[in-house]
Amino acid sequence: MPLGLYIHLPFCRVHCTYCPFAVSTDIRLQDQYTEALVAEIEARSNGERVDSIFFGGGTPSRTSRENLSRVVNQIRERFVIDNGVEFSIEANPEDVSEDAVAFWRSLGVNRVSVGVQSFHDDELRPLGRVHGRAQALEAVRIAAASGVRTSLDLILGLPRQTAASFEETLVTAIDTGAGHVSLYMLDLEEGTALARQVEDERVTLPDEDLVADLYTMAIERFADAGLAQYEISNFARPGEECRHNLRYWRREHYLGFGIGAHSFIGDRRFANTRDIHRYIARQREPEFAEVLGEGEVRRETIFLRLRQAEGINYADVVRLCGEEGIAWMDRGLSDGWLRRVENRVAFTPSGFLLSNEYMSQLF
Ligand code: SF4
Repeated sequence: MPLGLYIHLPFCRVHCTYCPFAVSTDIRLQDQYTEALVAEIEARSNGERVDSIFFGGGTPSRTSRENLSRVVNQIRERFVIDNGVEFSIEANPEDVSEDAVAFWRSLGVNRVSVGVQSFHDDELRPLGRVHGRAQALEAVRIAAASGVRTSLDLILGLPRQTAASFEETLVTAIDTGAGHVSLYMLDLEEGTALARQVEDERVTLPDEDLVADLYTMAIERFADAGLAQYEISNFARPGEECRHNLRYWRREHYLGFGIGAHSFIGDRRFANTRDIHRYIARQREPEFAEVLGEGEVRRETIFLRLRQAEGINYADVVRLCGEEGIAWMDRGLSDGWLRRVENRVAFTPSGFLLSNEYMSQLF
């Protein structure tokens, strides 16, 4: 089976208030970082076949063209790239221009994922985002017009977000004609600036019931517009599903390069250091590494399949969980958080909202 490659390009203009990722605002490090990245690819590649590449971050669109070219050249040298490879790059709206997209396409990129988050300036400002609505609209327009597959990221549960403002963001996202939307719930990670502001009551978030209603509304609105939900946070027009992300949920193998990048090969998972200085110094001991036991594989398989709208085969739950699994599915189907489609069970929209809680009842 071909592999997926994830390349972490960590440089950002500012560190957004809600962001827990391994990022750096010190762009002066990018040449040294690229040097280390190219060396890591050299050390860990073995001519494997690849059918998905994902440049994520950070803000990959902020990495210089010269450095992006170096990384792509190294990938082409060290792996066998399938003709039909899906090659995605994440971009922030302020970096998307006709010229930039033409350059990314010249590297082989065929999918651009734009970090929109919201189409309301007053919701973007507290997040520390650099762009506004007009720039986001223009970025998505440019990407879509260039012929690459286009996705946009939105966040639900933002400070200042209301039912009306979120609905307007949804309608605007649909009207862009993008083939794919990722809709993430704001996840207040400990240690982020936004988490501190919420703790100190300097910022308030929309209440949970409203967020639940808006999530359900988003699923319906997207479905009406031809963007079917295929995963808890992801919606696509037919054929526009992100192959690289499907790989994670299907437990297919991938290699991750760069700080904080995760890999899954054989039965082993591991993650690189998040410390950019250690990484540049080639101190590449993994931040964590694990070989999953039988029980963990079983749990993970069920958990990842149920993240997807297609759900899991009823018989597989019985095989993996026995009587307890049957009781769990019966409860979910009668309480309305699971639905049955032919021989499969899957979460309903309200089930997705509390999926972690329901999953914990199974194990
Ligand atoms: S641009 Fe993206 S990766 Fe960078 S700090 Fe903001 S949310 Fe995090």
